[in-house]
Amino acid sequence: MKTERSWTEINLSNFEYNLRELKKFLPENVQMMQIVKADAYGHGAFEIAKKAQKFGINFFGVANAEEGSLLRYLGIDCPILILSPSLLSEIEIILENNLIPSVSTIDFAEALNFAANKRKKKQKIHLNIDTGMGRSGIDFRVAAKTIEKIRKFSNLQIEGIFSHFSAAENDSEYTNLQATRFSDLLKNLSFKPKFIHISNSSGVVTFTSDFQNLVRIGLLSYGVYSDNRLKNQIDLKAVMTFKSRISQIKTAAKGDSIGYNRTFIASENMKYAILPVGYADGYDFLLSNKGKVLIRKKVCSVIGKVSMDMIAVDISDLKNPQVGEIATLLGEGNEQIRAENIASLYGGSSYEILCQIGRRAKRYYYENGKVISSSPLLRRNFVSSDYSDKKLSGIIETAIEQRLQSKEIADLIYRDILKRFFIEKDREIYYRKNFVHTVKFSQVPEGYFSRQKGKISASDYFLVNTRLTFTKKLQNDYFLVACAKNEKLLEKYFLRRDVEYRWLLNDNFDLNKDFFAVTSVFVNDLELKTELKISQGCIEIKCSHPYLKNLVGKEVDFSISTKTFYPQASHQLGIYLTEITRGVQIDFIFDGLLRNVEAVPIFSGRLKFPQIEYKKNSISVYSQNDEWIFPNSGVIFVY
Ligand SMILES: *Cc1c(COP(=O)(O)O)cnc(C)c1O
Repeated sequence: MKTERSWTEINLSNFEYNLRELKKFLPENVQMMQIVKADAYGHGAFEIAKKAQKFGINFFGVANAEEGSLLRYLGIDCPILILSPSLLSEIEIILENNLIPSVSTIDFAEALNFAANKRKKKQKIHLNIDTGMGRSGIDFRVAAKTIEKIRKFSNLQIEGIFSHFSAAENDSEYTNLQATRFSDLLKNLSFKPKFIHISNSSGVVTFTSDFQNLVRIGLLSYGVYSDNRLKNQIDLKAVMTFKSRISQIKTAAKGDSIGYNRTFIASENMKYAILPVGYADGYDFLLSNKGKVLIRKKVCSVIGKVSMDMIAVDISDLKNPQVGEIATLLGEGNEQIRAENIASLYGGSSYEILCQIGRRAKRYYYENGKVISSSPLLRRNFVSSDYSDKKLSGIIETAIEQRLQSKEIADLIYRDILKRFFIEKDREIYYRKNFVHTVKFSQVPEGYFSRQKGKISASDYFLVNTRLTFTKKLQNDYFLVACAKNEKLLEKYFLRRDVEYRWLLNDNFDLNKDFFAVTSVFVNDLELKTELKISQGCIEIKCSHPYLKNLVGKEVDFSISTKTFYPQASHQLGIYLTEITRGVQIDFIFDGLLRNVEAVPIFSGRLKFPQIEYKKNSISVYSQNDEWIFPNSGVIFVY
């Protein structure tokens, strides 16, 4: 049972239903862009975008660069168009996050072109044409000239051109006028951008054209009518429902007043309920003495003024009402509480009420009647304006950077953390514990490299035996050990989740099992089979066993031993952690071969300075067993 004072339920099945209904109006060649500005009209941009993607929509529209970059952080990698004119100060965020700005002025185009040029990037843009909306965009009367100028900027690519209807829901004459102005302009252009779009969701229903190949859908997809007339043309289901509970039941005698400033006086004895929501939750103040809420199946009236955190509703008609009973303030359940009807009670806009509802409320996402996810307030605060994600990023980055005293490593770690916690938030975090990595140097036996005579001399190298043991949940019925000759090639194995061990091989060696080999590999007591594959400058060793599939999802002990070689002249050896690790021990054994060996740890996490124990023939770097160490930590042994 939900314990909140108020919450919103977002019905993703209804959202999908609306998308399907809207799509019926579109010819085959017309794509949809899902508008998710203002956190998807209050529904949650990330969840809506994900659902839209499943439906086959691969283009999103947002209001500003910050909304776009938040979607990027969360892992949405489709094209994202910024609908409103961007500020010059947003250009860096646009480039960094691969967003598409809409362009309405030459000045902005010029600044964008300059910044894109510095990055050696071709930046996509959509031109915004004002055909009578009278808001942003290039005036259609001068557009042809302006566009030709913008076309000359060599680091900009005009991917799209669009305009926006002012009254597609109820003024077909004006809508057609706007469309004619737009198509006349298109005819005069010396080129044809890939995307041409003018319709918002109302336009999808009320307007047909032969020139556009993309439509931007917002309000109707959220199941709210922009005009009552559309009800005959399309069936829509409300996506958002806002709910609360009765927190107190009271009685008023004839003549009692209810709420601030005595705007409601009981005309007879009555029963009323206090609901713990107010304008701070987004329940509009103008609904004072006007709002309607649904309790059981009865529509009850809001009485008195809406307070910051409370409203009172008349429940005289309810039989035996109970504290804790659910009240629906907006959404599904009854025509009267649909967003458009609630908004009309105070002459408001249904767009606005959707955006503001549930400011404090947790959202629950439903699919086929079941809760599939929820989003707590915390994550939404991540976008709040006084703590923009840019600013927050800055704070985290500097914090890491100062402690590591390296901008480069700080940046890596920061991205990794962000990715793990935000982008991959629906995935389980796998971490390693009881981590022990031993690297042992010894003399290469005389004559070892005889086959490569002349090229490699045994005295230039150390023989290296490594053993890595740790405990972790098994993810697949196999895993890989990877080895490459340069960092660039090895990089791709850092991104893969099925790789448990990586080694950078010195460039002098050939890629084969003579120079890098897995000598034994165990999961629990099971000795695994290894299969070696050499391709594209990498050795990939697949470790598997038929029984492993029974252990997937279980915590198991890994043990991986390898044999390879290391150039004596290198004078340093780096050992890095690639995953979140709890409790670390790294031992470097050099048995009388080296002198003056020093360990330089680069640990991140709370522990910056692990214990270092220098012994005669080895060095141990270790933490407590319960200490969390972040990825990209490591130690460099210098000799
Ligand atoms: C918000 C917006 C839309 C979506 O409009 P709806 O009426 O909600 O469908 C489309 N285009 C632009 C430019 C917008 O700003």
